[in-house]
Amino acid sequence: MRVLVVEDDERVAETVKQALSAAGFVVEQASEGRTAWFLGDTEPYAAIVLDLGLPALDGLAILRRWRAAGQRVPVLILSARGDWTERVEGIEAGADDYLPKPFRVEELVARVRALIRRAAGQATPILVHGPFRLDISRQILTRDGVPIHLSPQEYRLVSYLMQHAGRVVSQQELTEQLYAQDFERDSNTIEVLVGRIRRKLGPGLIKTRRGFGYVIDHDE
Ligand code: CA
Repeated sequence: MRVLVVEDDERVAETVKQALSAAGFVVEQASEGRTAWFLGDTEPYAAIVLDLGLPALDGLAILRRWRAAGQRVPVLILSARGDWTERVEGIEAGADDYLPKPFRVEELVARVRALIRRAAGQATPILVHGPFRLDISRQILTRDGVPIHLSPQEYRLVSYLMQHAGRVVSQQELTEQLYAQDFERDSNTIEVLVGRIRRKLGPGLIKTRRGFGYVIDHDE
């Protein structure tokens, strides 16, 4: 899943990007307001981490524009330490959560995961489907209790489909969620990836809807 990090302080941005990548997200960064606004408006992110103090267009203004345009992506705002008025304004402008600076990246990652989970309507970080059990916070998929070794991309694909169980997800959506914007998009990439996953998990879990995409059906 793709996450946008909007932060002009390169050191903070780098730390956050590394932590989110290690947690299995595809991370993109914007370091000034206009780019951030444009990206958040046009790209399908699973969540956005938004610093409020930014050049060109500040975080609150961007958030208000997104919400006014109907953009419902979960947003976690980062605000200066002690500035509670900014946090109140942020939440009123449509933020889903906030974290005051300085913060521990572990907490940021946990909050981002929780936001994404809630946006998908799940209360717990464990998804169960037949013999399969996906632990989102530990990034582990097991079958009958036995861990299955997956590459980061394989994990992201299975995890995305399980988190959207019951919905047919197109190849294009998967490509957008699994790879950064500048990735060389080859039409076979997802098919090849699904093939590899099926060899590891068996053919039953991920179903193909020819011409539409892939689906993991709701567990009966
Ligand atoms: Ca800043």
